This record gives sequence, C-alpha cells and structure tokens, in this order.
Amino acid sequence: MSASPGASTLLVGHGDVIALLPMEECIEAMAEALATLARGGAVLPLRQVVRLPDGPNAFALMPAALNSPQALGAKVITVFPGNDATPYDSHQGVVLLFDTQYGRLLAILDASTITGVRTAAVSAVATRLLSRPESRTLALLGAGVQAETHLESIRAVRPIDEVRVWSRSGTRAERFVRTAASRSSGDDVRFVTSPTAQAAVEGADVICTVTSSREPVLRGDWLAPGAHVNAVGASIASARELDTTAVARARLFVDRRESIMNEGGDFLVPKREGVIGDDHIVGEIGELLHEPPRVAGRRTADDITVFKSLGLAIEDVAAAHRIYTRAVATGAGTWVELGGLRDAHA
Ligand code: NDP
Repeated sequence: MSASPGASTLLVGHGDVIALLPMEECIEAMAEALATLARGGAVLPLRQVVRLPDGPNAFALMPAALNSPQALGAKVITVFPGNDATPYDSHQGVVLLFDTQYGRLLAILDASTITGVRTAAVSAVATRLLSRPESRTLALLGAGVQAETHLESIRAVRPIDEVRVWSRSGTRAERFVRTAASRSSGDDVRFVTSPTAQAAVEGADVICTVTSSREPVLRGDWLAPGAHVNAVGASIASARELDTTAVARARLFVDRRESIMNEGGDFLVPKREGVIGDDHIVGEIGELLHEPPRVAGRRTADDITVFKSLGLAIEDVAAAHRIYTRAVATGAGTWVELGGLRDAHA
C-alpha cells in the first residue's frame, strides 16, 4: 500500500474498528492473509516478548509484511491475564500500519478490538475448513472477550443452534449466556451454561477453548467422534489448554509451524512427553486454502480435528490494512500530523 506524500496518520479507535471490520469481511481477510503466508508471501519473525517479573504479564512486539494484501506494520501490545477482574481488557495496545512506498505511518489502530475480531475470524476460517458442515452444537470454554467474538464468528460459518458456555467463574458464564440470549432473541439458538467443562464438551461439534488457563481445561476423552476444536488460549511453550490425549487423538493443524514449535505448549508438552512427534502437525491452515490443498484436512466424519491458534502479526496487519482502506473511503477516524515530511522542517 502507498500513501500520497504529505498524507497524515489516521487514528482509528474501538468504535471505528467495529464498524469497519465486520466479522464476515474479516473472515475473508484472514483467509487471504493465511493463504499468502502459505505461498511464501509474508515476512514475520517470531514475536518478541518482554515478560514482566513476578507474574504472568507480558509486553509483545509483533511485526509483519505481506504481499497480498500489500501491507507492512506491527502490533504492540500488553497481555495482562489478571485483568479479567478489572475494567480493562487483557490485551491492550495498538496496531501500526505503514505504507510500503515511502515508509510513512499510515494509521494507528486499537489493538484490543482488532485482536478480538481477527482471532475469532481465523478460528472461523479453520472451522469452515475442518469441522463437519452440519455442526450445530458449539461449546465455549471461557467467557471473556474471545468467547464473545468466537460466538459470532463460528455462527457465521456453521448452522449453530445450541451454544454451551463454561467458565471458571460460573457467574461470568451466566452473564455471558444472558447477554448472548437477549442479543439473539428471535434466532433459533439455545444458550446454556454448563456446570463443568466436560458437560459443555461432550457431544459438541465445535469446541473453542478461549481461557487464560495454563493447565488443560479440555480432556481428549470428552471429545465426540467428528468434533473440531479451536485451541486459542495458551500462547507460550509452558502453557496449554488441551491435555495430551486431546492433541494425540486429533489431526492437528496450526496457523504457523515455526510459531507452534516455539510457542505452542499444547503441542510442545505432549512432544516433550514423547507421545507425538513433529510429524503430528498435519499442516498450516493456509495450506488447506491452496488450490488444490497441499495437505488433506478432515478425511472422515469421525476424525477429530484441532486447530491450534497462536496468533500471527500478519493477521493484525491485514486487518489494519482493510480497516484503513475503508476508513479512507468513508471518512472515518481522526487524522493527526506526526511529522516525517521533509518540507515540513524547511
Ligand atoms: P479474558 O480475560 O477476556 O477472558 C479470559 C477467560 O479465561 C475468562 O473466562 C476466565 O475465567 C478464564 N480463565 C482465566 N484463568 C483461568 C484458569 N486458570 N482456568 C480456567 N479459566 C480461566 O481473555 P480473552 O478472552 O481476551 O483471551 C482468552 C485467551 O485467548 C487468553 O489466553 C489470551 O491470551 C488468548 N488469546 C489468543 C489469541 C490468539 O491469536 N490465539 C489472541 C488473543 C487472545 P472467568 O470467567 O472465571 O473470569
């Protein structure tokens, strides 16, 4: 993407991100970004993480460049998992979008909102590719920001008519179900809280693990034949949401091999235990988007499939590119002059 010389920088806050990045469009944007990655059209190092002493809090830098869409940028974000007891999101920061002609900073966008939408959209891409088309029952383990966006994204790709929600604090799950039911009144969907994770998972077609837990919340013995799991929560080598059986029973797909080899405790712990090897990873989601697919996805109705999402900078940058393009076209956001233009200093 290029900008005309002299262009200012656009600030895009929460409300504009929501308005300019509808879930259905974000799902298509994420499919394009993941396909670009699989074609070798993206450059992204592993994220750099500063872990704060004495606790789970972290500060992360996630840069990336893509050639389709042509975009360059980075997400700069804090992850404070304990924020669920505060008014603040657990993920806060900005996505920076630069132009590829002059290197100008085009936009500064709210990262909390982009992260909420793009992560769920990526899970929807995986669910569309891997779950059984007739999947009707969705189990959400966790009742926070990601649970909310995953409810929307999975319903966008599968005919869900029952949603089961479990969370560590039952009260949050109850509040989630009340809100979701009132927003969906008129739709033919049944929302229930589940007293245990097991009760939510047994017999479910699609399961999303969206917790900040570092220990397994999902056991493989609970999974019905044919289930599809989006494992979203854990994103460091020592943390996992799935037990060894869940991963070992499944055809395992990832957003990116290099990321899971370094950051994916859901894979690395069973590997350290000697239960699975590197060849247990069937492929990256983007490889399934290749025409023809480079790897086989679901092979039978009884296959259990797992998509392990670590979250990639290309997803943030591709989302930012789409939002910026829409914002310029519609006049949304607020322009600021940050400098960087030679004549301005004359
Ligand atoms: P929230 O803080 O909004 O919600 C967290 C949820 O996890 C809550 O329901 C909370 O339970 C639950 N939880 C916290 N600790 C535990 C525990 N020890 N055992 C079981 N449940 C627990 O977070 P988000 O929804 O924003 O994020 C959810 C997860 O997804 C996080 O791990 C986050 O890092 C990850 N994430 C992954 C991304 C990716 O690209 N893969 C992108 C963004 C986030 P309670 O209801 O009791 O409060």
